[in-house]
Amino acid sequence: MRDYQEYLSRLADACPARAEFTTVGMIDECLIPKIVIAGDPPAEHRGLLIAGVHGDEPAGPEAVIEIIEALPNAGLKECDLHIFPCLNPWGFANNVRENKLGIDVNRAFERSDVAEVGIVKQALADARYIFALDLHEDWEAKGTYLYEDTSVGSLVGHLIIEKSAVSDPSMVPHPKAK
Ligand SMILES: [Zn+2]
Repeated sequence: MRDYQEYLSRLADACPARAEFTTVGMIDECLIPKIVIAGDPPAEHRGLLIAGVHGDEPAGPEAVIEIIEALPNAGLKECDLHIFPCLNPWGFANNVRENKLGIDVNRAFERSDVAEVGIVKQALADARYIFALDLHEDWEAKGTYLYEDTSVGSLVGHLIIEKSAVSDPSMVPHPKAK
């Protein structure tokens, strides 16, 4: 069993002073946090970071803490960052992919009767983002990869992979992505 409260307190400790740490809902007595880290100076662009949709993939929520800690040096100053660090806290605590009702939240975003989906949709409302990252683990794959929605115009995935490859040699841009 994973300690969700301990995770939340490490998350709060990692947040810089300008971060706004709010609660957007509660599921199975677990708070669903949303963190907004304002650009410095305040920015007109917003990015979205989601993790912990699958409870047995704790690397995402852990990466959120590392990303927040790295932000001062990450060159993301002119962008507000909206973060949902752990969307399936019951699954996270119990190391289970699905939520307590056995629903794969990642496959349920078209549904209106799934609490986790309702909370994130209400919290997102009509917000527009210049990018959105949804962090997952994949036990079948080696290394790191990135899917990118190719229907939205300019592609930046290969830039993310190239930058990341500086510190992680397993990240190799796929030839088709160039
Ligand atoms: Zn996943």
